[in-house]
Amino acid sequence: MSYVEPAPIKPDAEDPFESMMSRFDIAAEILKLEPGVYDYLKTPQMQIITSIPIQMDDGTIEVFEGYRVIHSSVRGPSKGGIRYSPNLTLSEVKALAAWMTWKCAVVNIPFGGAKGGVKCDPRSLTKVELEKITRRYTANLLDILGPERDIPAPDVNTNEQIMGWIMDTYSMHVRHTETAVVTGKPRFLGGSMGRVEATGRGVRIVAEAAMEKFEMKPEDTRVVVQGFGNVGSIAAKEFAEMGCKVIAISDVTGGYYNPNGIDIQKALQHKEQHDGLLSGFKEAELITNEELLELPCEILAPCALEDQITSRNADRIKARIIVEGANGPTTAKADPILNDKGILVIPDILANAGGVTVSYFEWVQDRMGFFWPVDVVHERLTRILREAFEAVDHTAQKHQVSMRIGAYVLAIDRVAKTLKLRGIYG
Ligand code: NAD
Repeated sequence: MSYVEPAPIKPDAEDPFESMMSRFDIAAEILKLEPGVYDYLKTPQMQIITSIPIQMDDGTIEVFEGYRVIHSSVRGPSKGGIRYSPNLTLSEVKALAAWMTWKCAVVNIPFGGAKGGVKCDPRSLTKVELEKITRRYTANLLDILGPERDIPAPDVNTNEQIMGWIMDTYSMHVRHTETAVVTGKPRFLGGSMGRVEATGRGVRIVAEAAMEKFEMKPEDTRVVVQGFGNVGSIAAKEFAEMGCKVIAISDVTGGYYNPNGIDIQKALQHKEQHDGLLSGFKEAELITNEELLELPCEILAPCALEDQITSRNADRIKARIIVEGANGPTTAKADPILNDKGILVIPDILANAGGVTVSYFEWVQDRMGFFWPVDVVHERLTRILREAFEAVDHTAQKHQVSMRIGAYVLAIDRVAKTLKLRGIYG
């Protein structure tokens, strides 16, 4: 069965970049950022729209549109994923690029932020066509990419194989193998142990820190996970391994609910045998993705797309903790509603930072040519995310704001301080 990704419904009609900026503005006010620094930090450093002409398998030529936005390289080379989606917009890429800047600052790794992607539906493309799009996109960005400049990684609808093609294309042009130009690669090509599961694992690490704060026991904790891709499926597996009861999971084909708990191993097997989809999964009742978000539970982990929790449904969310595996799953208009309900939101720029943290480990290992065992990766990831959780919580309490605003304050302050020390060239 094949599915065309539906165009997202946006009840809050927020432009993704404006949505990011509305949180930025609150944090900037708290930090009393001077106007010049405010302008500097809000403005993306570079925005590229590039055309990608491809000869399709049937001989026709199609021209795709690709984007790369470098939001900031103040703290180091810019870092951010590549997304393939038919609904991709430049504004979305701009917002995602800025979130990468803040995310890298929250976990205190020496990277700036970027994001990119191609407007295409990978499900309707053959492997050969996908490879051609990836290689041409990489070739078009040759002057931008590089291990000291801009380093892509996987995001929605891109994977290890696509990162491998990016690494190979870049290496062919620079005439030597350059593994550190991209992260999230297959292990054989210089990938890190623990990268595939890093984001989902990170979701669990920060959720566990919040559970400890609230003295919640895993066996009394019901978890709902939206999205069963890289982030959602691993997060669900991690929560189940912790002893929590995962009562609902979902993907683009719908929500799957079982109040007695879902066997995540069976769901993973089903996905493996059914073209990566959950459709037809018999161990649970079929519900909609909207219904799934409103289920009674202790932890809700939106791990699919943006704009899932909005001013329309925020009031009906029953979770005690929301841990944002996806980027931007909550609109700015939903933030105050969730706050008023006393729901703890662990914001995306902290909750899903496990991926970029292990991407950083991969980049370090590639540059050293020396690779770490998986337990070292896990131990370092846990330490960094735990420290980031504490730092965000501390900042939020200090300013009497939500964890989301606390995370923005912490991140913007770190970038602004670096900028001040570097000074303005020009
Ligand atoms: P993915 O492509 O592997 O999985 C996406 C999942 O969402 C799939 O199960 C898909 O079926 C589902 N989905 C798509 N449309 C949906 C809809 N309308 N309703 C419900 N489910 C839907 O992508 P991923 O890598 O897991 O990324 C998911 C989110 O996490 C994105 O917001 C991404 O930016 C963010 N993220 C990913 C990483 C990473 O390392 N992969 C890191 C940080 C953040």
